[in-house]
Amino acid sequence: MVLVERDRSTGGKLVTGELLGRRLDLGPDSFLTRGGVAEALCRELGLAGELAPPATAGAAVLARNKVRPLPGGLVLGIPTDLRALLRSGVVGPASVLRVAADLVLPATAQASDDPTIAEVVGTRLGRAVLETLVDPLLGGINAGDARTLSFAATAPSLASAVAGRRSLVAALRALRPAGHERGRSGTRTGSFGAPGTGQAARPGEDPVPGGPAAPPFLGLRSGIGSLAQRLADDCVRRGVEIRTATPADALVPGSGEPGRCWQLACGGETVGADGVVLAVPAPAAGALVADLDPDLAAACRAITYADVVTVALAWPDATVPLGILATAGSGILVPRPSGRLVTAVSYTSGKWPEAARPGETVLRVSAGRDGDDRPAALDDVALVRAVRAELTSMLGITADPLATVVRRWPASLPQYRSGHLGRVRHIEQRVAALGAVAVAGAAYAGIGVPACIASGQRAAASVEAQLGT
Ligand SMILES: Cc1cc2nc3c(=O)[nH]c(=O)nc-3n(C[C@H](O)[C@H](O)[C@H](O)COP(=O)(O)OP(=O)(O)OC[C@H]3O[C@@H](n4cnc5c(N)ncnc54)[C@H](O)[C@@H]3O)c2cc1C
Repeated sequence: MVLVERDRSTGGKLVTGELLGRRLDLGPDSFLTRGGVAEALCRELGLAGELAPPATAGAAVLARNKVRPLPGGLVLGIPTDLRALLRSGVVGPASVLRVAADLVLPATAQASDDPTIAEVVGTRLGRAVLETLVDPLLGGINAGDARTLSFAATAPSLASAVAGRRSLVAALRALRPAGHERGRSGTRTGSFGAPGTGQAARPGEDPVPGGPAAPPFLGLRSGIGSLAQRLADDCVRRGVEIRTATPADALVPGSGEPGRCWQLACGGETVGADGVVLAVPAPAAGALVADLDPDLAAACRAITYADVVTVALAWPDATVPLGILATAGSGILVPRPSGRLVTAVSYTSGKWPEAARPGETVLRVSAGRDGDDRPAALDDVALVRAVRAELTSMLGITADPLATVVRRWPASLPQYRSGHLGRVRHIEQRVAALGAVAVAGAAYAGIGVPACIASGQRAAASVEAQLGT
Protein backbone atom coordinates (compact mmCIF):
# COMPACT_ATOMS: atom_id res chain seq x y z
CA MET A 1 0.00 0.00 0.00
CA VAL A 2 1.29 3.46 -0.88
CA LEU A 3 0.30 6.79 0.69
CA VAL A 4 1.05 9.79 -1.50
CA GLU A 5 1.25 13.14 0.32
CA ARG A 6 1.80 16.56 -1.25
CA ASP A 7 3.39 18.14 1.83
CA ARG A 8 6.69 17.34 3.49
CA SER A 9 4.85 15.57 6.30
CA THR A 10 1.56 13.74 6.68
CA GLY A 11 -1.31 14.88 8.89
CA GLY A 12 -2.83 17.77 6.94
CA LYS A 13 -4.45 20.18 9.39
CA LEU A 14 -3.21 18.27 12.45
CA VAL A 15 -0.25 20.55 13.11
CA THR A 16 1.40 21.18 16.46
CA GLY A 17 3.94 24.00 16.64
CA GLU A 18 5.71 25.84 19.42
CA LEU A 19 5.46 29.15 21.22
CA LEU A 20 8.16 30.12 23.73
CA GLY A 21 9.21 26.50 24.06
CA ARG A 22 5.70 25.24 24.77
CA ARG A 23 3.68 22.98 22.49
CA LEU A 24 0.86 24.76 20.70
CA ASP A 25 -1.72 23.31 18.34
CA LEU A 26 -1.94 25.55 15.30
CA GLY A 27 -4.98 23.86 13.72
CA PRO A 28 -7.43 21.72 15.69
CA ASP A 29 -6.66 21.52 19.41
CA SER A 30 -9.38 19.11 20.51
CA PHE A 31 -12.01 16.76 19.19
CA LEU A 32 -15.53 15.82 20.02
CA THR A 33 -15.75 12.61 22.04
CA ARG A 34 -19.27 11.74 20.90
CA GLY A 35 -19.18 8.59 18.82
CA GLY A 36 -15.79 7.75 20.28
CA VAL A 37 -14.03 7.51 16.91
CA ALA A 38 -11.12 9.86 17.55
CA GLU A 39 -10.67 8.84 21.16
CA ALA A 40 -10.63 5.16 20.14
CA LEU A 41 -7.97 5.83 17.51
CA CYS A 42 -5.83 7.72 20.03
CA ARG A 43 -6.10 4.80 22.46
CA GLU A 44 -5.32 2.28 19.73
CA LEU A 45 -2.18 4.25 18.91
CA GLY A 46 -1.01 4.30 22.53
CA LEU A 47 -1.98 7.90 23.24
CA ALA A 48 -4.45 7.18 26.08
CA GLY A 49 -2.14 8.80 28.63
CA GLU A 50 -1.96 11.99 26.58
CA LEU A 51 -5.74 12.55 26.39
CA ALA A 52 -6.93 15.56 28.40
CA PRO A 53 -10.11 17.64 28.51
CA PRO A 54 -9.82 21.44 28.30
CA ALA A 55 -9.49 23.09 31.72
CA THR A 56 -12.09 25.77 30.94
CA ALA A 57 -15.83 25.69 30.41
CA GLY A 58 -18.21 28.06 28.69
CA ALA A 59 -17.39 30.88 26.32
CA ALA A 60 -18.20 34.52 25.73
CA VAL A 61 -19.27 36.70 22.84
CA LEU A 62 -18.50 40.29 21.93
CA ALA A 63 -22.01 41.69 22.00
CA ARG A 64 -23.35 45.19 22.42
CA ASN A 65 -19.76 46.51 22.78
CA LYS A 66 -18.82 44.21 25.63
CA VAL A 67 -17.40 40.74 26.22
CA ARG A 68 -20.36 38.88 27.71
CA PRO A 69 -20.51 35.24 28.87
CA LEU A 70 -22.83 33.16 26.72
CA PRO A 71 -26.17 32.39 28.31
CA GLY A 72 -26.95 28.89 29.52
CA GLY A 73 -29.28 26.73 27.48
CA LEU A 74 -27.81 27.39 24.04
CA VAL A 75 -27.95 24.55 21.55
CA LEU A 76 -25.32 25.56 19.00
CA GLY A 77 -26.26 29.19 19.49
CA ILE A 78 -30.00 28.68 19.49
CA PRO A 79 -31.42 29.86 22.83
CA THR A 80 -33.76 27.59 24.72
CA ASP A 81 -33.70 29.39 28.08
CA LEU A 82 -35.17 32.84 27.54
CA ARG A 83 -34.57 34.03 31.09
CA ALA A 84 -30.88 33.18 30.80
CA LEU A 85 -30.80 34.95 27.44
CA LEU A 86 -32.30 38.09 28.95
CA ARG A 87 -29.97 38.04 31.96
CA SER A 88 -26.89 37.60 29.75
CA GLY A 89 -27.46 40.92 27.96
CA VAL A 90 -26.01 39.52 24.72
CA VAL A 91 -29.13 40.81 22.97
CA GLY A 92 -31.57 43.50 24.16
CA PRO A 93 -34.99 42.83 25.72
CA ALA A 94 -36.82 43.43 22.43
CA SER A 95 -34.73 40.73 20.78
CA VAL A 96 -35.53 38.32 23.61
CA LEU A 97 -39.22 39.01 23.01
CA ARG A 98 -38.65 38.29 19.33
CA VAL A 99 -37.24 34.88 20.29
CA ALA A 100 -40.22 34.27 22.60
CA ALA A 101 -42.53 34.91 19.65
CA ASP A 102 -41.24 31.63 18.20
CA LEU A 103 -43.25 29.79 20.87
CA VAL A 104 -46.55 31.20 19.58
CA LEU A 105 -46.02 32.14 15.92
CA PRO A 106 -47.61 29.86 13.30
CA ALA A 107 -45.37 27.47 11.37
CA THR A 108 -43.05 29.08 8.80
CA ALA A 109 -43.04 27.79 5.23
CA GLN A 110 -39.46 27.10 4.12
CA ALA A 111 -38.10 29.05 1.17
CA SER A 112 -36.35 26.07 -0.42
CA ASP A 113 -35.80 22.31 -0.18
CA ASP A 114 -32.51 22.89 1.59
CA PRO A 115 -32.92 26.09 3.61
CA THR A 116 -29.95 27.96 5.02
CA ILE A 117 -29.35 28.38 8.74
CA ALA A 118 -30.58 31.98 8.42
CA GLU A 119 -33.75 30.87 6.66
CA VAL A 120 -34.56 28.35 9.38
CA VAL A 121 -33.37 30.21 12.46
CA GLY A 122 -33.52 33.89 11.48
CA THR A 123 -37.15 33.73 10.41
CA ARG A 124 -38.18 32.08 13.70
CA LEU A 125 -35.93 33.89 16.20
CA GLY A 126 -35.06 37.23 14.62
CA ARG A 127 -31.94 38.88 13.33
CA ALA A 128 -30.22 39.80 16.62
CA VAL A 129 -29.97 36.22 17.84
CA LEU A 130 -29.06 35.01 14.37
CA GLU A 131 -26.17 37.47 14.06
CA THR A 132 -24.94 37.49 17.65
CA LEU A 133 -25.23 33.83 18.60
CA VAL A 134 -26.21 31.49 15.79
CA ASP A 135 -23.90 32.78 13.05
CA PRO A 136 -20.78 32.77 15.29
CA LEU A 137 -21.61 29.45 16.95
CA LEU A 138 -23.21 27.35 14.24
CA GLY A 139 -22.03 29.17 11.11
CA GLY A 140 -18.67 29.74 12.78
CA ILE A 141 -18.03 26.01 13.02
CA ASN A 142 -16.45 26.17 9.58
CA ALA A 143 -15.83 29.93 9.45
CA GLY A 144 -19.01 30.05 7.41
CA ASP A 145 -21.96 32.33 6.88
CA ALA A 146 -25.37 31.39 8.27
CA ARG A 147 -26.92 33.11 5.25
CA THR A 148 -25.43 30.55 2.85
CA LEU A 149 -24.83 27.38 4.90
CA SER A 150 -27.33 24.54 4.63
CA PHE A 151 -28.99 23.97 8.00
CA ALA A 152 -29.42 20.25 7.29
CA ALA A 153 -25.80 19.70 6.20
CA THR A 154 -24.22 21.85 8.92
CA ALA A 155 -26.33 20.63 11.82
CA PRO A 156 -27.98 17.34 10.84
CA SER A 157 -29.03 16.38 14.36
CA LEU A 158 -30.60 19.77 14.99
CA ALA A 159 -32.31 19.63 11.61
CA SER A 160 -33.86 16.27 12.38
CA ALA A 161 -34.83 17.40 15.89
CA VAL A 162 -36.77 20.41 14.56
CA ALA A 163 -38.17 18.76 11.42
CA GLY A 164 -41.95 19.06 11.38
CA ARG A 165 -41.95 21.07 14.62
CA ARG A 166 -43.50 24.54 14.68
CA SER A 167 -41.35 26.10 17.41
CA LEU A 168 -37.55 25.85 17.25
CA VAL A 169 -37.14 26.78 20.90
CA ALA A 170 -39.62 24.16 22.09
CA ALA A 171 -38.10 21.47 19.86
CA LEU A 172 -34.55 22.20 21.01
CA ARG A 173 -35.40 22.31 24.71
CA ALA A 174 -35.32 18.53 24.50
CA LEU A 175 -31.68 18.72 23.34
CA ARG A 176 -30.41 20.82 26.23
CA PRO A 177 -27.61 19.16 28.09
CA ALA A 178 -28.73 17.93 31.48
CA GLY A 179 -28.03 20.49 34.18
CA HIS A 180 -27.73 23.44 31.79
CA GLU A 181 -29.53 25.59 34.32
CA ARG A 182 -26.57 25.17 36.65
CA GLY A 183 -24.78 27.73 34.55
CA ARG A 184 -22.24 28.15 31.83
CA SER A 185 -20.50 24.90 32.31
CA GLY A 186 -23.55 23.17 30.98
CA THR A 187 -23.73 25.27 27.85
CA ARG A 188 -22.90 23.51 24.63
CA THR A 189 -21.49 26.00 22.22
CA GLY A 190 -19.51 25.58 19.08
CA SER A 191 -17.31 27.58 16.82
CA PHE A 192 -14.42 26.99 14.54
CA GLY A 193 -11.14 27.85 16.08
CA ALA A 194 -11.43 29.62 19.27
CA PRO A 195 -13.66 29.25 22.14
CA GLY A 196 -14.61 26.63 19.80
CA THR A 197 -11.85 24.61 20.73
CA GLY A 198 -12.93 22.68 23.70
CA GLN A 199 -16.46 23.79 23.12
CA ALA A 200 -16.94 23.28 19.45
CA ALA A 201 -19.02 20.87 17.57
CA ARG A 202 -18.42 20.46 13.85
CA PRO A 203 -20.81 20.09 10.95
CA GLY A 204 -22.24 16.65 11.15
CA GLU A 205 -21.29 16.45 14.81
CA ASP A 206 -23.90 18.69 16.38
CA PRO A 207 -25.36 17.84 19.77
CA VAL A 208 -27.94 15.11 19.96
CA PRO A 209 -30.48 14.45 22.67
CA GLY A 210 -28.96 12.78 25.66
CA GLY A 211 -25.37 13.34 24.53
CA PRO A 212 -22.56 12.23 26.82
CA ALA A 213 -22.27 14.00 30.16
CA ALA A 214 -18.50 14.55 30.15
CA PRO A 215 -16.03 15.34 28.82
CA PRO A 216 -17.51 16.41 25.47
CA PHE A 217 -14.07 17.30 24.10
CA LEU A 218 -10.55 15.98 24.46
CA GLY A 219 -7.18 17.27 23.40
CA LEU A 220 -3.74 15.66 23.50
CA ARG A 221 -1.02 16.86 25.88
CA SER A 222 1.51 15.76 23.29
CA GLY A 223 -0.29 17.98 20.75
CA ILE A 224 -2.81 16.98 18.13
CA GLY A 225 0.06 16.55 15.68
CA SER A 226 1.15 13.50 17.68
CA LEU A 227 -2.00 11.70 16.50
CA ALA A 228 -0.94 12.17 12.88
CA GLN A 229 2.63 11.16 13.66
CA ARG A 230 1.63 8.01 15.56
CA LEU A 231 -0.74 7.04 12.77
CA ALA A 232 1.95 7.49 10.12
CA ASP A 233 4.41 5.42 12.21
CA ASP A 234 1.78 2.71 12.65
CA CYS A 235 1.10 2.64 8.90
CA VAL A 236 4.82 2.24 8.17
CA ARG A 237 5.01 -0.59 10.70
CA ARG A 238 2.16 -2.30 8.84
CA GLY A 239 4.05 -2.06 5.59
CA VAL A 240 2.58 1.12 4.08
CA GLU A 241 5.02 3.08 1.96
CA ILE A 242 4.63 6.83 2.62
CA ARG A 243 5.85 9.18 -0.08
CA THR A 244 5.86 12.77 1.15
CA ALA A 245 6.49 15.87 -0.98
CA THR A 246 4.74 13.95 -3.75
CA PRO A 247 1.68 15.76 -5.10
CA ALA A 248 -0.68 13.59 -7.10
CA ASP A 249 -1.69 15.14 -10.44
CA ALA A 250 -4.13 12.77 -12.08
CA LEU A 251 -5.94 9.47 -11.62
CA VAL A 252 -6.20 7.44 -14.81
CA PRO A 253 -7.33 3.89 -15.57
CA GLY A 254 -4.45 1.43 -15.68
CA SER A 255 -3.89 -1.77 -17.59
CA GLY A 256 -6.31 -3.78 -15.47
CA GLU A 257 -3.59 -6.21 -14.38
CA PRO A 258 -3.41 -6.86 -10.62
CA GLY A 259 -1.92 -3.81 -8.91
CA ARG A 260 -2.40 -1.76 -12.05
CA CYS A 261 -6.15 -1.11 -12.29
CA TRP A 262 -5.46 2.55 -11.54
CA GLN A 263 -2.49 4.78 -12.21
CA LEU A 264 -1.88 7.81 -10.03
CA ALA A 265 0.35 10.25 -11.83
CA CYS A 266 2.57 12.12 -9.33
CA GLY A 267 4.95 14.51 -11.07
CA GLY A 268 7.37 12.31 -12.97
CA GLU A 269 6.37 9.06 -11.25
CA THR A 270 3.33 6.85 -11.47
CA VAL A 271 1.85 4.75 -8.69
CA GLY A 272 -0.15 1.68 -9.74
CA ALA A 273 -2.99 0.42 -7.55
CA ASP A 274 -6.03 -1.85 -7.45
CA GLY A 275 -8.06 0.65 -5.44
CA VAL A 276 -7.69 4.32 -4.49
CA VAL A 277 -8.93 6.55 -1.65
CA LEU A 278 -8.84 10.25 -2.51
CA ALA A 279 -8.42 11.73 1.00
CA VAL A 280 -7.72 15.26 -0.26
CA PRO A 281 -9.79 18.48 -0.22
CA ALA A 282 -12.64 18.41 -2.76
CA PRO A 283 -11.02 20.78 -5.30
CA ALA A 284 -7.89 18.59 -5.25
CA ALA A 285 -10.05 15.49 -5.79
CA GLY A 286 -11.72 17.35 -8.67
CA ALA A 287 -8.35 18.09 -10.26
CA LEU A 288 -7.32 14.42 -9.96
CA VAL A 289 -10.41 13.18 -11.83
CA ALA A 290 -10.67 16.07 -14.31
CA ASP A 291 -9.98 13.88 -17.37
CA LEU A 292 -11.56 10.73 -15.97
CA ASP A 293 -14.98 12.24 -15.19
CA PRO A 294 -15.43 15.97 -15.88
CA ASP A 295 -18.89 15.93 -14.29
CA LEU A 296 -17.49 14.50 -11.04
CA ALA A 297 -14.64 17.01 -11.18
CA ALA A 298 -17.11 19.90 -11.51
CA ALA A 299 -19.18 18.62 -8.56
CA CYS A 300 -16.04 18.41 -6.40
CA ARG A 301 -14.93 21.90 -7.40
CA ALA A 302 -18.38 23.29 -6.55
CA ILE A 303 -17.56 22.77 -2.85
CA THR A 304 -15.94 26.06 -1.90
CA TYR A 305 -13.58 26.73 1.01
CA ALA A 306 -12.89 29.58 3.45
CA ASP A 307 -9.39 30.92 4.14
CA VAL A 308 -8.52 31.38 7.79
CA VAL A 309 -5.47 32.41 9.78
CA THR A 310 -4.51 31.69 13.37
CA VAL A 311 -2.27 34.05 15.32
CA ALA A 312 -0.99 32.94 18.72
CA LEU A 313 0.40 35.60 21.06
CA ALA A 314 1.97 35.41 24.55
CA TRP A 315 2.18 38.14 27.20
CA PRO A 316 3.17 38.38 30.86
CA ASP A 317 0.01 37.82 32.95
CA ALA A 318 0.31 41.30 34.43
CA THR A 319 -0.41 42.89 31.06
CA VAL A 320 -3.64 41.05 30.22
CA PRO A 321 -7.14 41.36 31.73
CA LEU A 322 -7.19 37.99 33.50
CA GLY A 323 -10.55 38.83 35.11
CA ILE A 324 -12.30 39.23 31.75
CA LEU A 325 -10.58 36.12 30.40
CA ALA A 326 -11.70 34.11 33.43
CA THR A 327 -15.32 35.01 32.72
CA ALA A 328 -14.81 34.23 29.04
CA GLY A 329 -14.13 30.54 29.69
CA SER A 330 -12.58 29.00 26.58
CA GLY A 331 -12.63 32.26 24.69
CA ILE A 332 -14.56 34.96 22.92
CA LEU A 333 -16.57 34.82 19.72
CA VAL A 334 -16.66 37.90 17.53
CA PRO A 335 -19.84 38.22 15.44
CA ARG A 336 -19.62 39.18 11.77
CA PRO A 337 -21.52 42.51 12.02
CA SER A 338 -18.69 43.89 14.21
CA GLY A 339 -16.72 44.20 10.97
CA ARG A 340 -13.59 42.92 12.68
CA LEU A 341 -10.95 40.67 11.15
CA VAL A 342 -10.87 38.58 14.31
CA THR A 343 -13.58 35.94 14.43
CA ALA A 344 -12.67 34.37 17.75
CA VAL A 345 -10.13 34.61 20.56
CA SER A 346 -9.19 31.37 22.23
CA TYR A 347 -7.97 31.62 25.82
CA THR A 348 -5.39 28.94 25.07
CA SER A 349 -3.45 29.08 28.35
CA GLY A 350 -6.74 28.85 30.26
CA LYS A 351 -7.85 25.83 28.26
CA TRP A 352 -4.47 24.13 28.18
CA PRO A 353 -2.38 25.44 31.10
CA GLU A 354 0.71 23.61 29.80
CA ALA A 355 0.62 25.75 26.65
CA ALA A 356 2.11 28.71 28.56
CA ARG A 357 5.09 29.20 30.83
CA PRO A 358 4.19 30.10 34.44
CA GLY A 359 3.16 33.76 34.71
CA GLU A 360 2.33 34.06 31.02
CA THR A 361 -0.90 34.12 29.06
CA VAL A 362 -1.35 32.73 25.55
CA LEU A 363 -4.25 33.71 23.31
CA ARG A 364 -4.88 32.17 19.92
CA VAL A 365 -6.78 34.44 17.61
CA SER A 366 -8.69 33.21 14.55
CA ALA A 367 -9.18 35.65 11.71
CA GLY A 368 -10.96 35.48 8.38
CA ARG A 369 -14.14 33.73 7.39
CA ASP A 370 -16.15 32.93 4.32
CA GLY A 371 -16.58 36.19 2.44
CA ASP A 372 -13.85 38.01 4.41
CA ASP A 373 -10.44 37.54 2.80
CA ARG A 374 -8.87 40.61 4.44
CA PRO A 375 -6.64 38.67 6.88
CA ALA A 376 -5.36 36.37 4.13
CA ALA A 377 -4.37 39.43 2.08
CA LEU A 378 -2.19 40.96 4.85
CA ASP A 379 1.46 40.03 5.33
CA ASP A 380 2.42 38.64 8.75
CA VAL A 381 3.57 41.98 10.16
CA ALA A 382 0.41 43.82 9.08
CA LEU A 383 -1.76 40.92 10.23
CA VAL A 384 -0.26 40.86 13.74
CA ARG A 385 -0.59 44.65 13.92
CA ALA A 386 -4.27 44.48 12.92
CA VAL A 387 -5.00 41.64 15.34
CA ARG A 388 -3.30 43.50 18.17
CA ALA A 389 -5.33 46.65 17.46
CA GLU A 390 -8.53 44.61 17.69
CA LEU A 391 -7.37 42.97 20.94
CA THR A 392 -6.68 46.42 22.34
CA SER A 393 -10.21 47.58 21.60
CA MET A 394 -11.82 44.32 22.77
CA LEU A 395 -9.72 43.48 25.83
CA GLY A 396 -7.58 46.55 26.48
CA ILE A 397 -4.30 44.69 25.84
CA THR A 398 -1.69 47.26 24.81
CA ALA A 399 1.58 45.60 25.81
CA ASP A 400 3.91 44.18 23.16
CA PRO A 401 3.57 40.39 23.03
CA LEU A 402 6.58 38.33 24.10
CA ALA A 403 6.20 36.21 20.97
CA THR A 404 3.77 35.52 18.15
CA VAL A 405 3.15 32.61 15.77
CA VAL A 406 1.16 33.11 12.57
CA ARG A 407 -0.25 30.08 10.78
CA ARG A 408 -2.14 30.47 7.53
CA TRP A 409 -4.81 28.01 6.48
CA PRO A 410 -5.71 28.86 2.89
CA ALA A 411 -8.84 27.19 1.51
CA SER A 412 -9.08 25.10 4.65
CA LEU A 413 -12.69 24.95 5.74
CA PRO A 414 -15.30 23.55 3.32
CA GLN A 415 -18.57 25.44 3.10
CA TYR A 416 -21.65 23.23 3.25
CA ARG A 417 -23.77 25.63 1.24
CA SER A 418 -27.44 25.08 0.50
CA GLY A 419 -27.58 22.04 -1.80
CA HIS A 420 -24.52 20.42 -0.17
CA LEU A 421 -26.18 17.11 0.66
CA GLY A 422 -27.36 16.74 -2.94
CA ARG A 423 -23.89 17.57 -4.24
CA VAL A 424 -22.32 14.97 -1.96
CA ARG A 425 -24.85 12.33 -3.05
CA HIS A 426 -23.98 13.11 -6.67
CA ILE A 427 -20.23 12.88 -5.98
CA GLU A 428 -20.65 9.57 -4.17
CA GLN A 429 -22.72 8.12 -7.04
CA ARG A 430 -20.15 9.16 -9.65
CA VAL A 431 -17.27 7.85 -7.54
CA ALA A 432 -19.07 4.54 -6.93
CA ALA A 433 -19.47 4.16 -10.70
CA LEU A 434 -15.67 4.25 -11.08
CA GLY A 435 -15.23 1.01 -9.13
CA ALA A 436 -12.67 0.65 -6.36
CA VAL A 437 -12.32 4.38 -5.72
CA ALA A 438 -13.63 6.39 -2.76
CA VAL A 439 -13.40 9.94 -1.46
CA ALA A 440 -12.82 10.94 2.16
CA GLY A 441 -12.32 14.01 4.27
CA ALA A 442 -13.90 17.18 5.58
CA ALA A 443 -15.51 18.17 2.30
CA TYR A 444 -18.37 15.73 2.53
CA ALA A 445 -20.03 14.76 5.81
CA GLY A 446 -18.48 16.59 8.75
CA ILE A 447 -15.37 18.72 9.09
CA GLY A 448 -14.28 17.74 12.58
CA VAL A 449 -11.41 15.39 13.25
CA PRO A 450 -13.68 12.47 14.30
CA ALA A 451 -15.88 12.92 11.21
CA CYS A 452 -12.77 12.90 9.00
CA ILE A 453 -11.43 9.74 10.67
CA ALA A 454 -14.82 8.05 10.24
CA SER A 455 -14.98 9.18 6.63
CA GLY A 456 -11.53 7.68 5.97
CA GLN A 457 -12.56 4.42 7.61
CA ARG A 458 -15.75 4.25 5.49
CA ALA A 459 -13.78 4.98 2.32
CA ALA A 460 -11.20 2.28 3.06
CA ALA A 461 -13.97 -0.24 3.85
CA SER A 462 -15.78 0.60 0.61
CA VAL A 463 -12.63 0.12 -1.51
CA GLU A 464 -11.85 -3.14 0.30
CA ALA A 465 -15.40 -4.34 -0.33
CA GLN A 466 -15.06 -3.51 -4.04
CA LEU A 467 -11.82 -5.45 -4.20
CA GLY A 468 -13.24 -8.32 -2.19
CA THR A 469 -10.34 -8.15 0.29
C1 LIG B 1 -7.48 26.40 12.12
C2 LIG B 1 -8.36 25.17 12.23
C3 LIG B 1 -8.85 24.77 13.46
C4 LIG B 1 -9.64 23.64 13.57
N1 LIG B 1 -10.05 23.24 14.80
C5 LIG B 1 -10.68 22.04 14.93
C6 LIG B 1 -10.92 21.50 16.22
O1 LIG B 1 -10.56 22.10 17.25
N2 LIG B 1 -11.52 20.28 16.30
C7 LIG B 1 -11.88 19.56 15.18
O2 LIG B 1 -12.43 18.46 15.31
N3 LIG B 1 -11.65 20.06 13.94
C8 LIG B 1 -11.04 21.27 13.79
N4 LIG B 1 -10.77 21.75 12.54
C9 LIG B 1 -11.20 20.99 11.36
C10 LIG B 1 -10.31 19.79 11.07
O3 LIG B 1 -9.00 19.99 11.54
C11 LIG B 1 -10.22 19.54 9.56
O4 LIG B 1 -11.48 19.65 8.94
C12 LIG B 1 -9.67 18.14 9.27
O5 LIG B 1 -8.46 17.94 9.96
C13 LIG B 1 -9.49 17.99 7.76
O6 LIG B 1 -9.02 16.69 7.48
P1 LIG B 1 -8.95 16.20 5.97
O7 LIG B 1 -8.26 14.89 6.00
O8 LIG B 1 -10.27 16.31 5.32
O9 LIG B 1 -8.06 17.28 5.21
P2 LIG B 1 -6.57 17.74 5.44
O10 LIG B 1 -6.18 17.67 6.85
O11 LIG B 1 -6.45 19.04 4.71
O12 LIG B 1 -5.71 16.62 4.66
C14 LIG B 1 -5.66 16.58 3.27
C15 LIG B 1 -4.26 16.11 2.89
O13 LIG B 1 -4.22 15.97 1.48
C16 LIG B 1 -2.96 16.46 1.03
N5 LIG B 1 -3.10 16.79 -0.39
C17 LIG B 1 -3.82 17.78 -0.96
N6 LIG B 1 -3.72 17.73 -2.29
C18 LIG B 1 -2.91 16.68 -2.58
C19 LIG B 1 -2.43 16.12 -3.78
N7 LIG B 1 -2.76 16.60 -4.97
N8 LIG B 1 -1.62 15.04 -3.71
C20 LIG B 1 -1.26 14.50 -2.51
N9 LIG B 1 -1.70 15.00 -1.34
C21 LIG B 1 -2.51 16.08 -1.37
C22 LIG B 1 -2.71 17.65 1.93
O14 LIG B 1 -1.34 18.02 1.90
C23 LIG B 1 -3.17 17.12 3.27
O15 LIG B 1 -2.15 16.44 3.95
C24 LIG B 1 -9.98 22.90 12.40
C25 LIG B 1 -9.51 23.31 11.15
C26 LIG B 1 -8.70 24.42 11.06
C27 LIG B 1 -8.18 24.85 9.70
